Amino acid sequence: MSATDEAQSQIPTLPASHSGIPTYLLEKAQRAKQAVFDTRTKGRNQRQRLPVVPQGIERDVFMQALSELKDELGEENVEINDKPLVDGWYMEHPNTHDMMTILDEEELVASAVVYPGSVEEVQKIVAWANKYLVPIFPISMGRNLGYGGAAPRVRGSVTIDLGRRMNKIIDINPEDYTCLVEPGVSFYALYEALKERGYDHMWVDTPDLGGGSIIGNTVDRGVGYTPYGDHWACHSGMEVVLPTGEVIRTGMGGLPGNNTWQCFPYGFGPYSDGIFSQSNFGIVTKMGMTLMPNPGGYESFMYTFPREEDLAPLIEIIRPLRIAQILENVAQLRHVAQSVAVLGRPRSEFYTGSGPVPFSILHEAASKSPIGDHTWAYYGMSYGPPEIRAHKLALVDSSFRKIPGARKIDPSTLPADDYFFSRDKIAAGIPDIHELRWVNWTPNGSHIAFSPVSPIRGTDATALFKLGKELHDKYNIDFFPAFIVGLREMHLIVEIVFDRANQTKKKEALDCLRELVHEAAKLGYGEYRTHLVLMDQVAGTYSWNEGAVGKFNEKLKDALDPNSILAPGRCGIWGRRYRGRGWEMGLGKEESEGHGVGVGFP
Ligand code: ADP
Repeated sequence: MSATDEAQSQIPTLPASHSGIPTYLLEKAQRAKQAVFDTRTKGRNQRQRLPVVPQGIERDVFMQALSELKDELGEENVEINDKPLVDGWYMEHPNTHDMMTILDEEELVASAVVYPGSVEEVQKIVAWANKYLVPIFPISMGRNLGYGGAAPRVRGSVTIDLGRRMNKIIDINPEDYTCLVEPGVSFYALYEALKERGYDHMWVDTPDLGGGSIIGNTVDRGVGYTPYGDHWACHSGMEVVLPTGEVIRTGMGGLPGNNTWQCFPYGFGPYSDGIFSQSNFGIVTKMGMTLMPNPGGYESFMYTFPREEDLAPLIEIIRPLRIAQILENVAQLRHVAQSVAVLGRPRSEFYTGSGPVPFSILHEAASKSPIGDHTWAYYGMSYGPPEIRAHKLALVDSSFRKIPGARKIDPSTLPADDYFFSRDKIAAGIPDIHELRWVNWTPNGSHIAFSPVSPIRGTDATALFKLGKELHDKYNIDFFPAFIVGLREMHLIVEIVFDRANQTKKKEALDCLRELVHEAAKLGYGEYRTHLVLMDQVAGTYSWNEGAVGKFNEKLKDALDPNSILAPGRCGIWGRRYRGRGWEMGLGKEESEGHGVGVGFP
């Protein structure tokens, strides 16, 4: 497909494609797609050295092994990745590489992509990988953008795209408010299924964009914005194919004939689910998820605060309200830079200088926008019938107004396409696609996140804000901070938006991230989630007692995956065939590959 054809092709919709857009968002998605292609200057890559063969296997043997896999799964379910890499865009994303790559785009690429249609086929792939010692990398949807997308950590891994053929909603239970899903079920798809079945009494919790899979997002510990925003905490029960091929069911799933798999997450004995999140210990083929009861009414609210130094007192106000669940949802406190970027206009419309856009220009742009000038914007939602909401909203109002110059925004003054209404939908469990807009801040817009966790304290917020600002200035990067307030902690999410066709900008972004991770760790802050290229470094910051937790993870890895075939390096966990061979990335070491892999095992 040529680039023009690509820009004009039809966006896949549900249910024709498991990863399609719901029709209620089609028009919005078309506009988003147009904006992405309007700002794209990057051409197609010319590929060399194809197909990519993972280290540790001869080319001929590898090709022979792939033919054998084709015999097992069917020719059409094994695709060699030997064509030009097509970046696509959010709704038509590749499964061959990271469409927002921060490295050279040939670094984190798959050799082939395979499409299992059943748990048995996943087991066959695992057996095959053990036989030929080929690294495999499971994805559910592959939309983990900002964290590596669909890319494997080890170049030449065989990507297992679980979602394409394993995308059933196995069960929705309207009495228990639970569901059981396969890897290819997106937030969009689950939302649509609830509507189709007339289950208005249940809500889905959705992230900012709804195209990711419920399983992929949950195992990577992603968040949404209703009171059920901590997806990991809300899941119940998993089915997992282990790297040696056995299948287990966790929690109550271990008890034959149970009817509690999705109701009680723990079962009996050690709670094993945790080792299957942010790890490389198993392939999740089914997962249970709890659904939120429709609260019988809701109301979004938004406040703005004028000064940068309002941050600390505001966070102090938020903490007790959030812990007491007067502020009920995972809410966002966003900086004016984000308010401007999410207008969806390129940075060049505001500023053409080379350094970061000066704050004075951002304030000027904000003052012309519907919400007016501000430094911080808080988006929240109150749930329940009006009389229940009234009490909570009054408390919030009197507390927030303690900040001089605080303003409550009246939604009726905002245009229908204002970002406020996207936050309103998301906090009510209605998936959207609006958040993409800020990616077009630069041409070939891509993003990568720095996401440290802290308590909900003014001093911590200020320290992280200061660190972020200083390092963004040092590396010439616009600073987009947002505080995402959980129950007793908050994540500062800083998305660096970069032009992936510009090597200098990519290097600046990566250097900045490395220093952010390093300096934050010195202050005692660690990331809650990270991109493939930062995983070794972030895992390394969890170094208490001479890296005891990392050694524990290696012990688990070697016991569960003796041939180190499953997603080597993911989350900084390397199996024994890879260790000590220079595979880790970090400060001063940006090549993603090491020198060979081990051949013999004890
Ligand atoms: P999304 O569904 O949000 O698009 P991905 O499918 O890209 O997310 O998943 C995010 C990451 O989580 C993947 O890169 C992969 O490492 C891991 N992952 C996703 N699905 C599974 C799974 N079913 N089993 C094990 N790991 C998974």
